[in-house]
Amino acid sequence: MSQKLNHLDYYRLPWNYADNGISWLEPTTKCNLKCKGCYRDTASLGHKSLDEVRNDLETFKRLRKSDCMSIAGGDPLVYPHIVELVAMVKEMGWKPIINTNGIALTPELLGRLKDAGAFGFTFHIDTSQRRPGINAATEADLNETRLKYARMLADAGGLSCSFNATISENTLDQVPSMVKWAAVHADIVHTMVFILFRSPELTGNFTFYANGQKIDIDTYEETEWGGSRALMAPDVVEKIREADPVYEPCAYLNGTANPDSLKWLLANRIVQEGDSLGYVTPRFIEAVQVFKHLFTGTYLAYGSPGSMARGRLSAFAGAVLDGGMRKILARFLKKPARLLKPAYLQSIMIIQPVNFEPDGRQDMCDSCPDITVHNGKLLWSCRLEEVKKYGAFVQTVPAERN
Ligand code: SF4
Repeated sequence: MSQKLNHLDYYRLPWNYADNGISWLEPTTKCNLKCKGCYRDTASLGHKSLDEVRNDLETFKRLRKSDCMSIAGGDPLVYPHIVELVAMVKEMGWKPIINTNGIALTPELLGRLKDAGAFGFTFHIDTSQRRPGINAATEADLNETRLKYARMLADAGGLSCSFNATISENTLDQVPSMVKWAAVHADIVHTMVFILFRSPELTGNFTFYANGQKIDIDTYEETEWGGSRALMAPDVVEKIREADPVYEPCAYLNGTANPDSLKWLLANRIVQEGDSLGYVTPRFIEAVQVFKHLFTGTYLAYGSPGSMARGRLSAFAGAVLDGGMRKILARFLKKPARLLKPAYLQSIMIIQPVNFEPDGRQDMCDSCPDITVHNGKLLWSCRLEEVKKYGAFVQTVPAERN
């Protein structure tokens, strides 16, 4: 049984529906890979025109502030106007983050995306995929692939580099290998995100309704990879601590049904030569969010590579805030040689998508950062297919009530 975490120990990120760190743009549903747990119907609709995407961006401009715009899909690199789109996102005032599996990325395309204003990439790489030419039995087998992309970005220079991995009951034990790998490459890997696998089979015993009518929910073709239970954030915390015993989260987003569920759980560590010197405290992250918003008008989600390389400065600056940050500074001062070597900030995020309460309520991420636009309205990107298919979100009722 995983150790209970108390959300009140952490800083509740100030992100909300109208003013968030991130927004989520989908120019295409097409993809060149099939990942288990993908919530997008990649066979429908296909590419939007640039005018349609501009309309989506204008909807965001009217309804919601955010620092970054995640450009997702489908895979945005198969979108034929991706370079023009990145330039448009930048010109309209967001930091463009490209969420991709990376397969279509070449150094030449990377150069054009960077010139167009790309701020960073989030690569989705895990064993839920069958990547062409790669035979990976475990997540550790994919670290070489992750490193290839991190180096590509580092060679291009000045780009933020994040990795997403979907985690199921069957791959949970492989989390420590990714956490250790990320520490070794903290100079070029800025963020690791663990997203917990969800599938209709793991919801519990519910009947589904849309617009008052009972419906049959599609099931994924293959569920063996996903295991037999829905993981929760504390399951992953336990595994991260196996690799990094000093791991401590600093901030979270709660659930819409449960104030104490940890839907987004953020930790930021200071890493030097592959060792964690400590994790920044809730007060530190609060100061970062408040000052960023005060001076720029938006909350921070992705730091630049330059800011992530300021591990030593963060320890000094944070030491005025609280004892937790002073402990990190003390580790530097204990071995003064450490002060001469670079140290890096690195984020570790856990995302726990929808959970179903026994009474049928759906616990979504309160203040969802991955809100997208559909027909001029803001919607959860993970539930978009329901609206496309039924014109409404699906409701769940405990099966015994029927
Ligand atoms: S509500 Fe859905 S789309 Fe929004 S952050 Fe949570 S999992 Fe992502």
